[in-house]
Amino acid sequence: MTHKEPGLQDRFGRQFSYLRLSITDVCNFRCSYCLPDGYQKQSGPEPLQLDEIQRLLAVFAQLGTRKVRITGGEPSVRKDLTEIIQLAANTDGIDQVALTTNGYKLAENIAAWHAAGLQQLNVSIDSLDAERFQQITGYSHLARIIEGIDQALALGLKVKVNAVLLKGFDQTELALFENWLKQTPVSVRFIELMQTGDQPVFFSEHHVRGEAIRQQLLDNGWSLRPRQPHDGPALEFSHPDYQGRFGLIMPYSKDFCSSCNRLRISSLGKLHLCLFGDQGHDLRQLLDGSHTSDELAAELQHLLGIKSETHYLHAGETGAMRHFAMLGG
Ligand code: SAM
Ligand code: SF4
Repeated sequence: MTHKEPGLQDRFGRQFSYLRLSITDVCNFRCSYCLPDGYQKQSGPEPLQLDEIQRLLAVFAQLGTRKVRITGGEPSVRKDLTEIIQLAANTDGIDQVALTTNGYKLAENIAAWHAAGLQQLNVSIDSLDAERFQQITGYSHLARIIEGIDQALALGLKVKVNAVLLKGFDQTELALFENWLKQTPVSVRFIELMQTGDQPVFFSEHHVRGEAIRQQLLDNGWSLRPRQPHDGPALEFSHPDYQGRFGLIMPYSKDFCSSCNRLRISSLGKLHLCLFGDQGHDLRQLLDGSHTSDELAAELQHLLGIKSETHYLHAGETGAMRHFAMLGG
C-alpha cells in the first residue's frame, strides 16, 4: 500500500482494531449448545492456507488491526497452528495474538505456542464440575485442561476462561469458580447463551440471563470495574481477596453493539461484519497473490460501509449463524 489508509471505521464511528480469524470449522468436542452431534464432515474447499492468511493479515494490519484472535471450530486440530500463530505475531502492526481453544491439546502445546508469539489465551470451560463438564462437552479430561492453564500462567500468558451460562448453573457452580479464582489469576467470563439457527429449542430451554449472576457477584462482594476506553462488551468484576476476576457478556443487553470493535473472518475467507448479520462476504478471490493489497483494502473499506448498527437477536433473528463452530464466537 502506498498511502496512509484511514483505518477501519464504520458509519457509526466504531473503529475495528480487533480481528477474529477462524482457521477451521472442524471440532472434536460436542458441546451441547454448539455441535451436539459432533462435527459433520462436508466436502468443499480447504480452509485458508498460510500464504492466504499472511496476505489477509498484512492488509488488516495496514488498516489498523492491532489484535488477532485465532479461533475455530477447534483451532488446535490444525497441524500448522503454531506456524499460524508465528505468522500473525510477525505481521507488522499486529501487537497482540490471542487464541480461543477448548484446551484439549493445551498442556502439550502451550510452550510452543508461546514461543511462536502467543500472548493471550481463552479456554472454554463451562463447568468446573468434572461430570457436568463431560455432560456438556462430551470430553472427560477437565483436569488436563486445567494443567494446561497452569502452564500458560507459569509462562506469563494472560488467560481468560469462557463459560457459557446454561440452565442449571447454580450457586454451587459459581462457588467452584470463585474458589478457583482465589489463587488463580485468570478472568472467567460468563457468556449468555446466544440463539443460533440450529438450536432454537435448545436456546429457549437453556438460556438464562446474565443479570442473575451479576446480582450474585455483587452480593458476594465483587465490584464492577469502571469501563476502560478500549474495552469490549464484557462487564468486569474484581474482588480484593481474589487473584482472578469475573466478566459477564450479555449480548441481549441494551447497547451491547455500541462497543463492538471486532470483525470476523471465516475459515474459508469470508468477512462477517457481525456474528449474526450476514452470509459473509467472500474475500478469498483477493488472496491468491494475483491481486494487490490495495484492492483488498478497498474492498474492506467498502464492506465496512454497509455494517449495521446492531444485531437483531432480540427479534430472534440469528442471521446465517447455524452454530458458533462456523465462525468461532
Ligand atoms: N473450540 C474453541 C472453544 O470452544 O473455545 C473455539 C471456538 S468456540 C465456537 C468459541 C466460543 O464460543 C466458546 O467459548 C464457546 O463456548 C462459545 N459459544 C459457542 N456457541 C455459543 C452460543 N450458542 N452462545 C454463546 N457462546 C457460544
Ligand atoms: Fe467445539 Fe468450541 Fe463448539 Fe465446543 S464450543 S463444539 S469446543 S467449537
